[in-house]
Amino acid sequence: MANQLSCDKCGNNYEAKNTLQISYKNKSYNFDSFECAISHIAPKCVTCNVIIIGHGLEENNQYYCCKNCMR
Ligand SMILES: [Zn+2]
Ligand SMILES: [Zn+2]
Repeated sequence: MANQLSCDKCGNNYEAKNTLQISYKNKSYNFDSFECAISHIAPKCVTCNVIIIGHGLEENNQYYCCKNCMR
């Protein structure tokens, strides 16, 4: 169908004007919702496994949600 994109997370077809088009780490994605975008590409804290949707902290390619987890 014209002007529809499928979500890279759940495969749902969605009107192109309502999708999220995100470029991250040299890849581009289409998502139908913030929930799909976050669960697909947001990093997780390696200590407590929480999904990081704020700035977070990165060290040696590992992500942490806060300074406490980084120790
Ligand atoms: Zn989706
Ligand atoms: Zn953490």
